Amino acid sequence: MKKKVRAIGLISGGLDSILAVKVIQSQGIKVTGLCFTCPFFGSQHAKAAAKGLNIPLIVKDFTEDHFLIVKNPPHGYGKTMNPCIDCHALMLKIAGQLMENKGFDFIFTGEVLNERPLSQNRQSLHVVANTSGYEKYIVRPLSAKLLDETEPEKKGLLNRQALLDIQGRSRKRQISLAQEFDIKEYPNPAGGCLLTDRAFSNRLKELLEHNVDPAYFELQLLRFGRHFRVSSHSKLVVGRDELENGIIEKFIIEGSFLFRTDEVPGPVCLLVGPDAKEHLDAAACICANYSDTKDKTECKVMCEQADKYREITVITDKAFREKGRIN
Ligand code: SF4
Repeated sequence: MKKKVRAIGLISGGLDSILAVKVIQSQGIKVTGLCFTCPFFGSQHAKAAAKGLNIPLIVKDFTEDHFLIVKNPPHGYGKTMNPCIDCHALMLKIAGQLMENKGFDFIFTGEVLNERPLSQNRQSLHVVANTSGYEKYIVRPLSAKLLDETEPEKKGLLNRQALLDIQGRSRKRQISLAQEFDIKEYPNPAGGCLLTDRAFSNRLKELLEHNVDPAYFELQLLRFGRHFRVSSHSKLVVGRDELENGIIEKFIIEGSFLFRTDEVPGPVCLLVGPDAKEHLDAAACICANYSDTKDKTECKVMCEQADKYREITVITDKAFREKGRIN
């Protein structure tokens, strides 16, 4: 009996990756999805897409390897802290290793030639694939007819004529294909990766300037609250609403301090860093001045560490609001 051809595809959950699956499946090929997680993006959209497509999905946390390239990308950054060429190459390298270990015949992605002028032009697609070490096995079904023939096409595992020739930034063909395939729900293609967000990137850059090897929780914390640098080594994170207050208080770890006002509504604040205990007063001041102190000249702030509490009385001073604020 003829062996069924099996392919592993990078799934972001966006329309292009969904269409790429459909195009490959239309040749009777069995598809498994692959997506990645790290503190900068998650697997939520990919999981929803895999469920809709009814395909198995492998979810890989590649934080360690990915963070190395975020800190030092051989091919540089995009507009913000996004190392797209090396990030994509790393994803394809891991896909290639899975292909070898799990017996897939080839890898595919939803990339479209020239859809993104910098990271998806012909040269970038080649650099990404070449850097991954698996270039011959990487098929881009949406633009395949415009690209060099790959090994699975040469071997007859894939019919090149049934692949597509989409290119450019217009989404018209993808939208009409979505209708043909009856795909109704898909997320916005721009969303998802925090490294493309300028405010987030500025925070990350500032963190790396003070600590080249931050802990996982410090990267996660970058998503929440206002951030104040109280010393070279320590930071205060101030919740901006109830939801963030609830999230931030869960980040309390050994050596960190939690602040909240006692008598007036105010934020939950988390002070983290090796010299945090030397900056309790400054942290309490910031906490008080982001609280509803109105005309009060004094505010009591509770400081918690490892189930021990102390009260710090702050003379309110609006000038503290902006002092040391990162963004
Ligand atoms: S946008 Fe983010 S997830 Fe996508 S390739 Fe660039 S760095 Fe990686």
